[in-house]
Parts: sequence; structure tokens; C-alpha cells
Amino acid sequence: MTTNLQNAIARATKIKMTVKYLGGRTYLVITPEAHRYVVRFETIDGQRFGRCQCKAGAARMACKHLAKAAAVDTGIRSSQGH
Ligand SMILES: [Zn+2]
Repeated sequence: MTTNLQNAIARATKIKMTVKYLGGRTYLVITPEAHRYVVRFETIDGQRFGRCQCKAGAARMACKHLAKAAAVDTGIRSSQGH
């Protein structure tokens, strides 16, 4: 995990966003403004990559939606024993 993403996760934990698990490695993030973004993750060579639908995500930045979904993804993965 990159430092950028970890910083983004730290910021995202202070924002009340809803993350819905859509199956696989796909999540729907709903912001307090009711904006909805789909975030997808994949793991390549042991490194996790995520893409968000928002403008920052399209520019391959670690946006807060990605960070929030990543925190949930980590929880789900660890509970599955991966
Ligand atoms: Zn985003």
C-alpha cells in the first residue's frame, strides 16, 4: 500500500461516508452529499490497486472514496483470512 493511500485512509476515517459491498472487490461509496461512486480493487503482484469513478479517481489519485472503500476492503479480506 502506498503512503498516499494510507494518508487518504487516515483522512477518510473522519468523514461519514457509507460503503456498500457489491460483491467481488467492488464497493459503492455514498457521500454525505448523496453522491455515489463505484470503487473497484484488484491485486497485482501482491499490491492492491483501486479505481474510483470520481474525477480524482480518474486521474489515478487516492481519493477519499477510494480510501474509505479500501478500509472496508481490508476488513473484509482480513476476516476471510487472506
Ligand atoms: Zn473518488
